[in-house]
Formats: sequence, structure tokens, C-alpha cells
Amino acid sequence: MVEVIGFGLAGACVALQLQRAGHAVRVVDDGKPGASQVAAGLVNPVAGRNFEPSWEVAEAWEVARPFYDSLDSGLFRPMPILRLWRDDRDREKFARKREMLEPWIEDVTNEGVIWREGGWLDCPRFLKVAREHFLENGGEIVEVPKGGRQIWCAGAAGLLRGDFEGVSHRSAKGEILTVRIPGWNERRILTRNGWLIPIGDDRYRVGATYDWDDLSPGPTDEGRTKVESILKTFTDRDYEIIDHVSGIRPIIERSKPVIGEEQGNGWMVNGLGSKGVIYAPRVGLEMLSHLGLGS
Ligand SMILES: Cc1cc2nc3c(=O)[nH]c(=O)nc-3n(C[C@H](O)[C@H](O)[C@H](O)COP(=O)(O)OP(=O)(O)OC[C@H]3O[C@@H](n4cnc5c(N)ncnc54)[C@H](O)[C@@H]3O)c2cc1C
Repeated sequence: MVEVIGFGLAGACVALQLQRAGHAVRVVDDGKPGASQVAAGLVNPVAGRNFEPSWEVAEAWEVARPFYDSLDSGLFRPMPILRLWRDDRDREKFARKREMLEPWIEDVTNEGVIWREGGWLDCPRFLKVAREHFLENGGEIVEVPKGGRQIWCAGAAGLLRGDFEGVSHRSAKGEILTVRIPGWNERRILTRNGWLIPIGDDRYRVGATYDWDDLSPGPTDEGRTKVESILKTFTDRDYEIIDHVSGIRPIIERSKPVIGEEQGNGWMVNGLGSKGVIYAPRVGLEMLSHLGLGS
């Protein structure tokens, strides 16, 4: 029996992949909302200011996209991502890196560059569908560990507790707004100093803040103000805030996913950072093959 502790993106991927490989799996879920419940699900191959493709993004997405589609083809919503220009220096920076970025470029316009392979994963629905698949295929979900070989997928909660000795982290709180903007009809994901994702019915998800000092639970007035200022860089239309959420991104040194072992405490899959959707399925498979449990 393998026990997977935590059922966010990491735990769900590890548990389902173990199950598919024919192993008996038990999930330990404390029912507390982790980062995966609030994640906007953005998949952006070239995130950030400096036109740097995310680390091994092609290899990771090659595993992730079919994994999500195998659960439900509607979980991932492909959508063009328009990275708006900041200024002339920004355009020049892009021009210097253009050749390296060619695999991700759909188009270059006066507004900015459009990335291909972008979109967003409906994370709350992914967690629901993953849970259903897991249970339908004989999985067991309990609230406290019962024993067995343990794989800890505890996200920021585990990092903050210090579950694994010697793992230093720099986890960051993030806040997101969902707003309604009637009649705008923007159908692309917009990014620049933040992002905006159209999620249908005149609703848009906007984010996100980064705070490495205040890791307290719950959204804040300051966070809301910061996200509203991001929104105003994308549109001057009137909006209504319909939701405001926060969570903590599990970030380990170098912002890369980590598989770790501690004698007596089992294994760990953590450090999905701000790109859990891209990396979780691949790091899950790596965990399995590391333990010799792959199919
Ligand atoms: C505001 C915000 C926006 C984000 N946007 C995006 C985005 O657009 N795209 C993207 O790819 N990523 C995004 N992320 C990052 C993404 O959310 C994370 O990379 C990912 O969710 C981490 O998944 P995880 O499974 O490691 O952790 P979590 O989702 O936190 O899951 C860990 C789970 O383990 C449970 N747990 C912990 N300890 C125990 C225990 N002892 N017993 C039982 N259960 C336990 C917790 O309660 C939790 O449910 C965002 C994050 C935040 C905060």
C-alpha cells in the first residue's frame, strides 16, 4: 500500500498515476484548501518579464496535457496568450531573443506577442474529477495516515511545518480576483505586469500578488488593491468584484519541483511554485519511476 499525503495538484497526479500503474493507493486528505483550490490554472510557456521560456516547459507540457485530457477533455481550455509590450526596451529585448522563442510564437503584432500552447486548467474541477476517478477505481481517502510507504504532497503547508528537515523554502502568498465586466468580450489571456484570464459569462480572473513575508491565510485589502491596479492596466471598463481568494505557492530553492527523501519520513513531491499545472503530472511520473513503481 502506498499512502499519498495531500490531494492538491501534486497528490492527485501521484495518486492517479500510481493507481494507473496498478498499485494499491490510499490518499490522506485533511480537507484544508491548498494552493490548488485557488490557482488560476494559467499555462503560459513564456511567463515573466524577460521572455524566458519556463524551465523544461515543452517536456513537462508534453506529459501534462494528455494527462489532463485523459481525465476530461474539457479541463484544459486552450486560449491565445497576448503578452502586451511594456515599452520600446521591452520590444528590443524580445527582438534579441526572438529566434530562441520561435517555437512559442503564434504572431507578433503592434499590441504584443501571441504565444501558442497557452490556456488555463480549471483547477477546482480538476481536483473534483481526479477525486471521482480515484474513488471509482478503488482508491481510498482517509483523514489521518494509517501507514505504508508514504509520499508527502503537502504543498506549502508541509514546507511551513518543516515536514522534511533541511528543505529551505521561500513560499509566496498570492491573491486573485474574479471580476465581472459586462460587454467587454476579450477572448484572449492578457499578460504584462500580471495576467487576466477570460473564464466565460463576462467573468475574468485577474492576478496575482506575490508576498514572501506575510504568509497568513486569507485575502487582504492590500492584495485586493494591488490586483485591482493590475486589472486597470488591461482595461478602463467598469467592473464588479465577485470573488477574492488567496493561497500560498510552495516554492523551494531555484523554483523547481523537488522529489526528496528523508529516512523515516518517506518521500516528498513539492516545490511546484507558481506553475503547478505545467509540472505536476511530470514530477508525479518521475516520483514513480524513482521508486521503481512506474508501469
Ligand atoms: C494565488 C495563486 C495563483 C496561482 N496560479 C497558478 C496558475 O495560474 N497556474 C499554475 O500552474 N499554478 C498556479 N499557482 C500555483 C499552484 O497553485 C501550485 O503550484 C500548486 O497548487 C501546488 O500544488 P500542491 O499539490 O503541491 O499543493 P497544495 O495544492 O497546497 O496541496 C497540498 C494539500 O495537502 C494537504 N495537506 C498538507 N498537509 C497535510 C497532512 N499532514 N495531512 C493531510 N493533508 C495535508 C493540504 O491541506 C493541501 O490540500 C497559483 C498559486 C496561488 C497561491
